[in-house]
Amino acid sequence: MVNEKMYDLGSEPSAIRELFAYGLARKAEIGADKVFDFSLGNPSIPAPDAVKQAIVELLDEPPISLHGYTPAQGTPGVRSAIADSINRRFGMKATSSNIYMTAGAAASLAISINAVADAGDEFIVVAPYFPEYRIWIEAADCTCVEVMARELDFQLDLAAIEAVVTPKTKGVIVNSPNNPVGSVYSEENLRGLADVLRVKQEEFGSVIYLICDEPYREIVYEGVNVPYVPALYDNTIVCYSYSKSLSLPGERIGYIYVSERMPEWNRAYAAICGAGRALGFVCAPSLFQGVIEKCVDVPTDVAAYAENRELLCQGLAGLGYEYVEPQGAFYLWVKALEPDEQAFAARAKEHELLLVPSTSFGCTGYVRIGYCVSKETIANSMPAFKALMEEYRG
Ligand code: PLP
Repeated sequence: MVNEKMYDLGSEPSAIRELFAYGLARKAEIGADKVFDFSLGNPSIPAPDAVKQAIVELLDEPPISLHGYTPAQGTPGVRSAIADSINRRFGMKATSSNIYMTAGAAASLAISINAVADAGDEFIVVAPYFPEYRIWIEAADCTCVEVMARELDFQLDLAAIEAVVTPKTKGVIVNSPNNPVGSVYSEENLRGLADVLRVKQEEFGSVIYLICDEPYREIVYEGVNVPYVPALYDNTIVCYSYSKSLSLPGERIGYIYVSERMPEWNRAYAAICGAGRALGFVCAPSLFQGVIEKCVDVPTDVAAYAENRELLCQGLAGLGYEYVEPQGAFYLWVKALEPDEQAFAARAKEHELLLVPSTSFGCTGYVRIGYCVSKETIANSMPAFKALMEEYRG
């Protein structure tokens, strides 16, 4: 009666969503201040005032155009504004013809994968990774090939990637700053990846796309540089989103940038338009296209996340937890206190600490703490983290 693959997708539980739902129910039961929900990546700081200002200004425009359809790929105005911003910031030569407006990074990635893939192609993802990658890859009848990041610093393991590139490899998805680890790939590391892919393209006579998932680009700490991949590798497609940078996850707004340095980029861009059409992702929300046109260079407020990061890292380090020092995004990747991270997360839950086991991200031995929460949540959770540690270490 229905498509079994889609039925399974729609009915199989998502560990992260289940934990979040549990948190809501538990808060209703024992009080919101007694549950420490670190499960989601929902920004905890409000959208900048400039966003509100832009909305207010836009509301004076005639409703027919304000709320009407835009061209499928977005208005020329917002696409030009984004291209100009990319050129100013990263020295590229983009125009509006390289930009396709989307309903956030999720749409950007689903469109990009479908735009370049033929059934049976392979996409490489770097574990630990955002779990939806596999869903989008497999929905395009392609294979998701997992490669672990380097064990100590969670940078790209170039030898491991090289070992799994085949003539069927159509793309590599990289996500930096990274969810769930918080790592930022260095320029040297990304240059190394670009070299590997160029050699493999030559060897196989194929095109391998680097698909850069960048919703956290602006959220970095201590001046860390996030290299711009289109400047390092021509066959790059950037999937951007304003969900995190402007705290607009529910408005569903982002874009795809097809690098103008890509040979025959206009064919790739046409395929992006085609995939957007085939998937029904045409005309991103009109009001928010207008907002982005006005707010394209509004800086991201990372101060609150930086404070949370400091508080959490200091607190957990003092208690003896081991974690990866986050350079960006708003997640802390913490070593579980026993080999079975699911059992560890279950014990944390008994202390009202809602942590996502690393199994959700394709690897073992860790939990993810989302620190896009209030400062109080972090401060008040420390006795629970202490009790959890004592339970293991006595
Ligand atoms: N990619 C990563 C790594 C994410 O963490 C998220 C959201 O949390 C997305 C993509 C999807 O973002 P969006 O809300 O823009 O669809």
